[in-house]
Amino acid sequence: MTPTKPVSMKKIQMVDLQGQYSNIKKTIDSSIEEVLNSSAYINGPYVHQFQADLEKYLSVKHVIPCANGTDALQIAMMGLGLEQGDEVITVDFTFAATVEVIALLKLTPVLIDVEPDTFNIDIDALKKAITPKTKAIVPVHLFGLCANMDAVMEIAKKHNLFVIEDTAQAIGASYTFKDGSKQKVGTIGHVGTTSFFPSKNLGCYGDGGAIFTNDDDLAHTIRGMVNHGMYKRYYHDVVGVNSRLDSIQAAVLKTKLPLLDKYCDARRDAARYYNNAFSQNANIITPTTKSNATSNCGEICDSCDCHVFHQYTIKIMNGKRNELHQHLLDNGIPNAIYYPVPLHAQKAYKDSRYKEDDFTTTNELIETVISLPMHTELDKEQLAFITKTINDFVG
Ligand SMILES: *Cc1c(COP(=O)(O)O)cnc(C)c1O
Repeated sequence: MTPTKPVSMKKIQMVDLQGQYSNIKKTIDSSIEEVLNSSAYINGPYVHQFQADLEKYLSVKHVIPCANGTDALQIAMMGLGLEQGDEVITVDFTFAATVEVIALLKLTPVLIDVEPDTFNIDIDALKKAITPKTKAIVPVHLFGLCANMDAVMEIAKKHNLFVIEDTAQAIGASYTFKDGSKQKVGTIGHVGTTSFFPSKNLGCYGDGGAIFTNDDDLAHTIRGMVNHGMYKRYYHDVVGVNSRLDSIQAAVLKTKLPLLDKYCDARRDAARYYNNAFSQNANIITPTTKSNATSNCGEICDSCDCHVFHQYTIKIMNGKRNELHQHLLDNGIPNAIYYPVPLHAQKAYKDSRYKEDDFTTTNELIETVISLPMHTELDKEQLAFITKTINDFVG
């Protein structure tokens, strides 16, 4: 049974970039026009202004803009001086970019399992994966919820490891430590990285990314690395890359940054609606907002900033996830399986060291998870139709 689609209802999108743009069109267009008239298309004042604004927003000493979130990860690892053979631990359940750059730099990726409720790095698995060759940990704050950074930082300190936070899906979120203090994600480890891909929570209208750090020396190293290893024009001290945020994207981001908290609130409003609608459904597990047992209040809370819902991802426990995926598509409700294949099973990242037993949670998640439409423009009529369609089918 499917509820009838209200005639007045706007077409449901997974991410409504068009709807968001139309609400801020005037300011965006004029900021882009300013760049066009300035002819400072690369590294102009807009890039510097956005960088300063983001440093202030995150309360971090250094933001280094770059071309995309994948480059940000790669350059962070280069900046830390990681070398061939160094082991870098990251999660099996994430977008491939995280492991891709480890492999590209000829470092040794060590994939580990995630937790079933947060979808983030499993702390016991992390402890077990550490060897004398381990040099860094890359926690990914998946779907907008920070990993258990109390535990990650404690382990890193004990074993003298670098922590690179992949914040591509969680910019704007905060983490509440055991002692009650709060910090923006991406500024907790030695270095944090993010992506401004259009569909990310702070998206531009092309590609973009950034690296964050409180370490002055590392920031200096990285600033040169993004620009061909130059610290003085035409003097190349290290092997670098060309990875720049262009001025048009910076102008878009500068205009959107002041709206980020409001956008996160809008996502949380939609998540709250979903959670309430599914609360009586025994076959649906809704996302947790707690990074660990002590962090934040456990509610979808605007003041905790605990979860920024890059994705709203539920688990379907009656074995009908694939049928639901198709049923929703048939009814004009976009949805996605993030992620359908774990990284350890991908051709590019297979490794004889891995055993299926090492990935029991990831192997379960790829069968149960489904991500629902989540963006800043979802309205109650759409949410009512989506949730009713799901509850009727999963019942
Ligand atoms: C999107 C994403 C990236 C890569 O960002 P790009 O800007 O697309 O290169 C890296 N890690 C995670 C977890 C992501 O979701």
